[in-house]
Amino acid sequence: MKKIKVFLAVLMCRTLRFAARLLGRGSSLPGKWTLKLFPDILKDIQLPDLVIAVTGSNGKTSTIEMINRVLSGGGLKVAVNREGSNQTEGVATTILSDCTLSGKVKSDVVLLENDEQWARHTFRYFHPKYYVITNLYRDQMTRNGHPEWIADKIAKSIYDDMTLVLNADDPLSASFGYNRNNVIYFGADHLEGDKTENNSIYNDGNYCPICKHPMKYDYYHYNHIGSYHCGNCGYKRQDTAYSLSAADTNEGWIEINGKYRIHLAFKGIYHCYNTLAAFTVSQIAGVDPQTAVKVLDNYNMTNGRVQRLVYGGREGTLLASKHENSISYDRSIDVATADEKGADVMIIVDAISRKYFTSETSWLWDIDFENLNNENIRHVVLAGRYCYDLAVRFEYTGIPQEKIKVYESIPEAVEFLKGDREHPFYVITCFADSGKALSLSEVKGVRL
Ligand SMILES: [Zn+2]
Repeated sequence: MKKIKVFLAVLMCRTLRFAARLLGRGSSLPGKWTLKLFPDILKDIQLPDLVIAVTGSNGKTSTIEMINRVLSGGGLKVAVNREGSNQTEGVATTILSDCTLSGKVKSDVVLLENDEQWARHTFRYFHPKYYVITNLYRDQMTRNGHPEWIADKIAKSIYDDMTLVLNADDPLSASFGYNRNNVIYFGADHLEGDKTENNSIYNDGNYCPICKHPMKYDYYHYNHIGSYHCGNCGYKRQDTAYSLSAADTNEGWIEINGKYRIHLAFKGIYHCYNTLAAFTVSQIAGVDPQTAVKVLDNYNMTNGRVQRLVYGGREGTLLASKHENSISYDRSIDVATADEKGADVMIIVDAISRKYFTSETSWLWDIDFENLNNENIRHVVLAGRYCYDLAVRFEYTGIPQEKIKVYESIPEAVEFLKGDREHPFYVITCFADSGKALSLSEVKGVRL
């Protein structure tokens, strides 16, 4: 009976996937319909030994892309879900499409991006062997509430038989490893440029996630990411198996465990962490470290987070941040302010989400826009439907008003940028709005 059920479910999913592809429809649909008839089918599938899941607020898609490349580079065949299909239906589509009709996954590795809220449903039917949690930040408040609320949801997706792979530098993510044995930590050692004070607008590391007492930091890499300890319960940053022993985000390289140097195609601390997470997983999966270094060296993301723009012959860079996610914005701002050539920065908030409608803009007050009050920044251009919400926020940044330009119309804002060909520009916005910036560009392409 079970055999027939598996046979029918795999056949149904494969057929629907074929049809969906012909019709150009979403990649979650085959799994969705198959799960309607066979809701618990995933528990009957024979998975490979290596099932790796990744969740967290930021960097999931980039990390998954690099893990996929590095495992494939190591000779492993990987079944991976596509961006946007990270809920149970998408996971089911990925797994069932890769099965034989007897229900055995053909690939060596199943690699799954998981939505923070949905993992607890997906993992009722099977458990990944390795569960990577990249970080937990303020993200999509209208959907996700507060990071601690999301942490409660993720906690329900964790089982004793999983090995957790955690970012040691994020106190909330790392707290899943508290009093647990099977944990592998990754993180950054004390780096040049670390700070002793958190001068961000808010500090989500103020309180210990275990006992809620005030927490102390030895240093911060950025925001609340750093080395911390609680004087009350003893919770502290754990030693890491895989460490950024050195990094230079301006020159664009990292060194892992004192011996593996990787050059970065994109210079941002984010990319350092995502690359480290990918390296960590590659080592867990048994890929030769030199092969991993070779694949990750100067690796150019294909997910469009960094793209070239040209307006009126002027060269610029699109930095696709995430709306409703202040840390993502903060890191893009770092990239723009580090440009010593002197740049204009355009911020577009036109549609807050591409998945749902909200006009909630309180997250603008969590972003360190004050950092744009920097000698390297020539003008700040605020554009899109929410340009006036941005303008009110910028009144509190101390940036001289004559440097700030406000345009509800994105094409008009782009016209302003065309006026100066001497200096570069950066457009910081979300995937919901990045297409609007790209459509006006004379040349497009993934940025090295
Ligand atoms: Zn504590």
